[in-house]
Amino acid sequence: MPSALITGITGQDGMYLAELLHGKGYEVHALIRGQNNPKRALIETGFPYVQLHNGDLTDMSSLMRALRDSQPDEVYNLGAISFVAYSWENAHVTSDVTGKGVLNVLEAVRLHAGDDPGSVRFYQASSSEMFGKVQQVPQDESTLLWPRSPYGVAKVFGHYMTINYRESYGMHASSGILFNHESPRRGPEFVTRKVSRAVARIHLGLQDEIVMGNLDAKRDWGFAGDYVEAMWRMLQQDEADDYVIATGETHSIEELLDAAFGHVGIDDWRPRVRQDPRFMRPAEVDLLIGDATKARERLGWQPTVSFRELVAMMVEADLAEQKQLAGL
Ligand code: GDP
Repeated sequence: MPSALITGITGQDGMYLAELLHGKGYEVHALIRGQNNPKRALIETGFPYVQLHNGDLTDMSSLMRALRDSQPDEVYNLGAISFVAYSWENAHVTSDVTGKGVLNVLEAVRLHAGDDPGSVRFYQASSSEMFGKVQQVPQDESTLLWPRSPYGVAKVFGHYMTINYRESYGMHASSGILFNHESPRRGPEFVTRKVSRAVARIHLGLQDEIVMGNLDAKRDWGFAGDYVEAMWRMLQQDEADDYVIATGETHSIEELLDAAFGHVGIDDWRPRVRQDPRFMRPAEVDLLIGDATKARERLGWQPTVSFRELVAMMVEADLAEQKQLAGL
């Protein structure tokens, strides 16, 4: 039975990946951080097959211990401080976790693997935020990186460190440059989930309006369940490499609002939306749209959920959750 170790198990992608690997017959291990982590119970009850190891991306000895105790064939580094807006307020800790944390995992895997550096396959969760002020449309694996936030800068560090460990030590280290990917499990601080939850609450009469930031930004949004499949496929290749994972379609925040409000029959959503500078960012990533040709050709990967289907899935899930919470 193959074994995998996941960091970032309490996040959206960690949960989808755990399900995918368990379904494929893996023994699934995961690193979990912190004393009294409020999400621990969610993982223990929702994903009882996951074996949890206490540790932290900033603590090398805890990473070494998790590797020793799980003996993984594959390591998926999904752990990070992942919210772009937060990264300006906490640039140092974002650099330590989202950037240097990658180096810690790479180094721990290298030391653990000993004489056979390719024996433990490594996946790094790189990000389309690395493209930032985009230098090419659409963006692919060779597009110049120009990050626009401390989060983006930290992801660039992790991305190049992954490539460097592959080239320096012959490690099987792959980097997935994933464009925004969403689901009903997305954290409520991200724009898709913020909108789907608010639209559900407005439809149920539990809330009047939603307060937003920049409505002009455009993103290439896919379904997280599809994207974890791409991670796994990368690690099944003979050679490690870097891949863009994206839908190839872009939509503005206005279009997101259109689709989400439209799903509950509200066509004129403008009176329900207020803009507040509080949600504007010091520097914005205006346009993301990915070219996943390489992933399609080499991994046989393609997205299965359209933008409208994704928005509908998220609004429906939030309607069900909000009804239950409100006892409706
Ligand atoms: P990101 O692409 O990783 O930053 O993902 P987010 O979901 O946090 O943000 C996507 C885009 O939505 C960015 O361009 C934000 O500026 C924009 N946006 C507009 N209003 C909001 C808001 O209220 N919350 C968030 N999170 N993003 C917003």
